[in-house]
Amino acid sequence: MSGTRVALVTGSNKGIGFEIVRGLAKKGLTVLLCARDTSKADAAVRKLKEDSASYQIFPLVLDVTKQDTIDAAAEYVRSRFGKLDVLVNNAAIYAAADGLPGVAKVDAVIETFETNFFGVIRVTQAFLPLIKASPSARIVNVSSGLGSLALNADPNSPFAAVKPLGYNSSKAALNLFTIQLAYELRDTKVKVNASNPGYTATDLNGNSGTQTVEEGAADPLRMALLEDDGPTGTFTSDGAVFPW
Ligand code: NAP
Repeated sequence: MSGTRVALVTGSNKGIGFEIVRGLAKKGLTVLLCARDTSKADAAVRKLKEDSASYQIFPLVLDVTKQDTIDAAAEYVRSRFGKLDVLVNNAAIYAAADGLPGVAKVDAVIETFETNFFGVIRVTQAFLPLIKASPSARIVNVSSGLGSLALNADPNSPFAAVKPLGYNSSKAALNLFTIQLAYELRDTKVKVNASNPGYTATDLNGNSGTQTVEEGAADPLRMALLEDDGPTGTFTSDGAVFPW
């Protein structure tokens, strides 16, 4: 892969997304660090540039639930770069009123889908023309082990008791989106994969996760940097295939 590669990571002002930006910048990619507001994006870029002033990281406002911000971000990338080589759909929420299917607040389930599923569709569709303009593009959908139907159905899974309806079903839907989009783009240079970061200490889970953000970012980064002979339409975790 030659030339400067351009990447965009949604929800990357903190947590796993922030580490994914760092990892991509370290590899020499030009990275668009996205946040819901300018001050968060600017602060995160400043923080990463403390690592190295030579990192090519630029702040971008993008709220995955707001089509106007997505369209403006896509127009910015089009006018400045004319293509997008790597899209990491990372932004997600875990709503407080989510819960088991009998008690989850429907509004919380809807709110979760707005970000974790519909947001990914909005962003991916807006950027698809720029992604197709890349000679070798990657889409990584940051999913979750909690979105695995196989693990949800397995009473012996270590996460068997973790069944918030909105969050888990939004990630299961995201996995299906991954499979379908990979199929749709099978004859193109775009590879589409879902990646599970694993249980990672971030604000999403009140910092209860057992992995560091560096560990959580590792598999999504690996899939973002796949070589041209890499797979498409997969779900991976820790460098290995994970059950859908
Ligand atoms: P996090 O620290 O809470 O970060 C989530 C990011 O998404 C934040 O930057 C947040 O921005 C952003 N975001 C939320 N709603 C958004 C919206 N409408 N538009 C744009 N950005 C939005 O969570 P994380 O743990 O790093 O999560 C990153 C990804 O990993 C998610 O897809 C999550 O489902 C997945 N994951 C995490 C774990 C884990 O154990 N942490 C495990 C499996 C999968 P604000 O700062 O503005 O809120």
